Amino acid sequence: MRGLMQDRQLTIPPLLSRAETNFGHKRIVTGGATETVSTWREVAPRVRKLARALESLGVPAGACVGTFAWNSQRHVELYLAIPSSGRILHTINHRLHHEQISFIVNDAADDVLFIDRTILPVIWPLVSSFGTVRHVVVMEDGGDMPLPDDPRVLDYEELLSRQADRPFETVVEDENTAAALCYTSGTTGNPKGVLYSHRSVILHSLLLLGADVFALSERDVVAPIVPMFHVNAWGLPYAVMQCGSDLVLPGSIRDPEQIVSLLSRHRVTFSAAVATVWRDLIPALASHDLGSLRHIACGGGAVDDALSRAYEQIVGIPLTNAWGMTETSPVVTTSRLATHHDNLRGEARRLLIGTPGPAVPLTEIRVVGDDGTVQPHDGKTPGELQVAGATIARAYFGTDIGRDGFTSDGWLRTGDVATIDEWGYLRIVDRTKDLVKSGGEWISSVLLENAVMADPRVREAAVIGISDPRWGERPMACVVPAAGVNLTAEEVRAHLRGRVASWWIPERIEIMGEIPKTATGKWSKQALRRRFADPATGSP
Ligand code: AMP
Repeated sequence: MRGLMQDRQLTIPPLLSRAETNFGHKRIVTGGATETVSTWREVAPRVRKLARALESLGVPAGACVGTFAWNSQRHVELYLAIPSSGRILHTINHRLHHEQISFIVNDAADDVLFIDRTILPVIWPLVSSFGTVRHVVVMEDGGDMPLPDDPRVLDYEELLSRQADRPFETVVEDENTAAALCYTSGTTGNPKGVLYSHRSVILHSLLLLGADVFALSERDVVAPIVPMFHVNAWGLPYAVMQCGSDLVLPGSIRDPEQIVSLLSRHRVTFSAAVATVWRDLIPALASHDLGSLRHIACGGGAVDDALSRAYEQIVGIPLTNAWGMTETSPVVTTSRLATHHDNLRGEARRLLIGTPGPAVPLTEIRVVGDDGTVQPHDGKTPGELQVAGATIARAYFGTDIGRDGFTSDGWLRTGDVATIDEWGYLRIVDRTKDLVKSGGEWISSVLLENAVMADPRVREAAVIGISDPRWGERPMACVVPAAGVNLTAEEVRAHLRGRVASWWIPERIEIMGEIPKTATGKWSKQALRRRFADPATGSP
């Protein structure tokens, strides 16, 4: 017998009506050259006009619409209008190397792009390599690049001003319809697309509200510093529409002083960023009142205790860790103190909430040994972390790619090595993938090696991540010159300039006679990591 409850689909459009009807007065603040403050009552008609604008541009249903934008009110409008009108919101990181950007735009076959004017100088030179893009809509945010004299270029506000405020024409009937697309860097070269559904977005936005997750409520003022081009800014813009908190967005500001001032002036209660950002803000903390902050979420990498301690001392609360991936919407775990931790004090409490913590509702985690057996929850037996749930990817966008990223019983293989303790608390031990995570952003060691080895003066190159106090990790290149060649580190860097993004270029380049190999003849990155380990910490 089937249950007798209403078979309502979980889709994004009702989020807008909820925000407009129940929280119409709540604020959306965007920082930048000129700070703007709007309300859902003002934003909602703009979202409906934007959906009609997509119609007027002839964007087909199911097409991808790309965004190159900071965290801003207009980006929120795109977050709503694109999926609510049956298209796919495709957020893109403009800091990637131009070849990756071209690959991503062409792979997704983006039909129209929305670009902040401050980002236009980076993207416009690439537009000729985008095979499918028919229009580029520029969003005025204080950038000074003159608008290109090109019939494909349109102005966002002008486009909206031509539309009437009418209900969405399209009805998203099936909750499993694709809503958003975000690419993640892979170890083997090309980035892979993760395609979220309306259902996964809604479920994920709801689970963030959980009292043991982020406990977001109408009383909060939420500031996602995590970029809206990376995993939907952890789904926070959608969560805010569920609970009615104010939303504070940094816009194009990067200056630590200005970001901390924004958090302080708007009495932010919850904010999320990667460790590098939290580290950059430290010098500005003491001169602002951050007493309103109740939860500082730090994800995308480990929380280092010195950083967390600094926040505890200056702001009054430590950082709370969260674990996730692009493939997982992203939040899978976040730490919290449970009743069985009541006896923990001081440093022990801080250290506990600096680890990833237990799985949030709707998700399951397990660690699996090399022989395929699920490891016991004893907090000490490591294995590969695998995750499953309604907010976790089951395949990558595109045909056949990334099959080995999933187990035969449908779990996502994360490539992280972890333990789980008796209370279900996750700890990340290591990464099996050889990516380098610098400032919360991935650097593919494989791509970087290939770029180094594109120099005929180089015989072999292996890239490993070495720990860095500012960026978490930085790439280090171990380079073997071709026979008879005298090569310097500076010559390797000169070769890389223009071939990879500038922030990929390693500060440390070691010229050596041979790269150690494993028994099967592969480079032994483990041996390299051991060789270049920091003698003080033992870690690379
Ligand atoms: P991304 O898909 O770019 O968001 O990166 C996901 C990866 O970041 C994970 O597979 C981990 O290797 C790493 N990561 C994310 N959160 C954490 C965390 N809390 N602790 C350690 N590593 C993390």
